Amino acid sequence: MKVKKSNSKNDMKVIQMDELSWKQIEELDKKKTIFFLPISPLEEHGPHLPVGTDLLTAKDTATEAIRILNRKNPELTYVLLPAVPLGYCKFNTDFPGSISVSSKVVRDVIYSIGSSLASHGFKYLIICTYHMAIGHLKGIYSGMERIMRKYDMRICEPWSPYFYNDEVEKREPKLGFDTSKEMHAGFRETSLMKYQYPYLVDESHKKLQNIYRDLQSPRVLGKTFKELGLEDGYVGSPARADADYGRWYFNETVNVYVESALDLYERKELPELPKKIKMIMKSLFWQ
Ligand SMILES: [Zn+2]
Repeated sequence: MKVKKSNSKNDMKVIQMDELSWKQIEELDKKKTIFFLPISPLEEHGPHLPVGTDLLTAKDTATEAIRILNRKNPELTYVLLPAVPLGYCKFNTDFPGSISVSSKVVRDVIYSIGSSLASHGFKYLIICTYHMAIGHLKGIYSGMERIMRKYDMRICEPWSPYFYNDEVEKREPKLGFDTSKEMHAGFRETSLMKYQYPYLVDESHKKLQNIYRDLQSPRVLGKTFKELGLEDGYVGSPARADADYGRWYFNETVNVYVESALDLYERKELPELPKKIKMIMKSLFWQ
């Protein structure tokens, strides 16, 4: 049975890797198939959001990007890998529900998935993560580099370069406050979940007070959220959350994935992390 790209509703189907047989996978055009890998840890997101906030967002934005690409550029094939609920988030494991693996595990998972595909001749992989902790990204980037050293595969993780190059602040609708301080489960992520999953956002978010901390400051490195006095596990202003902003943020991520997938295929220049973040990443110990 060949892989069907469209279903009866005339609307393109999102191909899911776990639903395919090895025969169907072998028959895919290896030079024209782009895989999408959503990966983010289960991690506390304040008293008001589910621990799967990053994982659900990574999976949903990847799925939506594939739907758009199926219409925009149907000569390529896009395959969604199952979302991997793993990542490094040691700094908030003092809350139940946060599950952290080491950066090395992240690196090995990325390497294992990418190299398994690459060793069968596949050429393109997009990694979709919504978890921006630098210890997590260290694992992802190191896994990507290992694959690209060994195989002829092009890989891109587009969201962290967008995020750390302050593109959100440059492009977002004007709000009258600084959203760059919305570090974790604050305005941005609460808005996102209000748009995607309003039934998973606890009403209590409307009463949460604004709490700010610079989580990138060197003084903070190595400390857990509770050690920093973040008793509720969020940084920012969840009470301001707004589903319209959530829609903008969601679609912005989808667009970044769509553009990066096409740039990856067309061998155009890909977005890069700023130097400062690369330096911090390098200086972090493997843990
Ligand atoms: Zn998050």
